[in-house]
Amino acid sequence: MSFIPAELVKKKKRGQAHSRDELEFLIRGYARGEVPDYQMSAWLMAVCFQGMTPEETADLTLIMRDSGKVFDFSYLPEKKIDKHSTGGVGDKTTLILAPIVGSLGIKVPMIAGRGLGHTGGTLDKLVSLNGFRVDLSEEEFRRQVEDFGAAIMGQTDHICPADKKLYALRDVTGTVDSFPLICASIMSKKMAEGLDGLVLDVKFGSGAFMKTQAQAVALAQLLRSTGEKNGIRVAALITDMNQPLGRYAGNALEVQECLDILRQSQDLPFYDETRELSLKLAGYMIWLGDKANTPEQGYQMAKAQLLSGQAFKYFVELCRRQGCASMENLPAAKHVLEITAELEGYLSAMDTEKIGLAAIELGVGRRTTTDSIDLAAGIEFFCKVGHTVRRGQMIAKLYAEDRQKLFAGEQLFKEALLWQEHVEKRDHPPLVAEVLA
Ligand code: URA
Repeated sequence: MSFIPAELVKKKKRGQAHSRDELEFLIRGYARGEVPDYQMSAWLMAVCFQGMTPEETADLTLIMRDSGKVFDFSYLPEKKIDKHSTGGVGDKTTLILAPIVGSLGIKVPMIAGRGLGHTGGTLDKLVSLNGFRVDLSEEEFRRQVEDFGAAIMGQTDHICPADKKLYALRDVTGTVDSFPLICASIMSKKMAEGLDGLVLDVKFGSGAFMKTQAQAVALAQLLRSTGEKNGIRVAALITDMNQPLGRYAGNALEVQECLDILRQSQDLPFYDETRELSLKLAGYMIWLGDKANTPEQGYQMAKAQLLSGQAFKYFVELCRRQGCASMENLPAAKHVLEITAELEGYLSAMDTEKIGLAAIELGVGRRTTTDSIDLAAGIEFFCKVGHTVRRGQMIAKLYAEDRQKLFAGEQLFKEALLWQEHVEKRDHPPLVAEVLA
């Protein structure tokens, strides 16, 4: 069926619901290049303001899934389990949990994304590893899942092509934070992977798309019901993103943190946050993969895989299979700017979205769809919420290829920190605030 795209934009702008045919026309047309970016951008913005009915969201998800190949791994006896995060700053757990879970004999077919808005993306991190290919063909992905277990790739022109284009467009048009768009983007990819189970890391707080825990729970319920209606068991962990996760935000820097944790080669401050959340998420994956009777038992198994070095060994092989022969020589930034405390003070909050935007200024993310990114750029944190610093004490280091970018990043970064003179006794939310399983 054919429609006039601008009329569909107007319809959504007025808050009216689309029929399945209308959505199919828009999404398929966009994936094929028949609906241009400018009309799609207008429509996405209308969806951000007007939302979608549950029926529209379900239709959109299935239309996006069916825009490309849908894998069927049901002939494999092992469970197929993945994890997906709704997005955060310093959010790097995939690089730790995929090898943990894969090394336990669970299949982990992962279709991941690039940076989105102020948040980082798994694919941008992985390509910091020299030669690592995220553009696997359908056949390469299938074979790696069959023969090895874990495989990580991006959307392609054949696998989730609608999400590939929409994701890139939403990234640079301010149209990420919409429940139906997030649901369709995540679940179309996950449903195309042929999964049995999915662990969701649904983030809330200043660095997440959902600013409150209640919003994150509502999104988790939508994602869960979409998965379960389509035969996927879903556990959702509602996790705190009121400050960046771990020590680093930035592609190669985050890879370095994960390698250190996998190798247990050094244990810098804040590594424990990354390790702990990775183990918790892995525990739920192992439980859904029927290798543990409870998520807690899964957590203990995950910890054993990490401590025994099995997970690191598996990661080395995963990298080798995807084209990276050596994990040494990660890209390193030309310029470093140290940020020190001008006064004594207590860090009472971080505007983590602003920290993500500061990272974009440094070169970590994209401003337009055609931008290339600086893999070495990023931020190293020496101080987190609840810490007190003396005058002159190091707060952070900013890394960039281009000196000019450092100063733009510095300004935003400094604005993102809320200092107080006196220590305020406040309970900080736990890393995992609640679980829907
Ligand atoms: N992750 C995705 O894959 N899509 C979104 O829209 C948000 C997070």
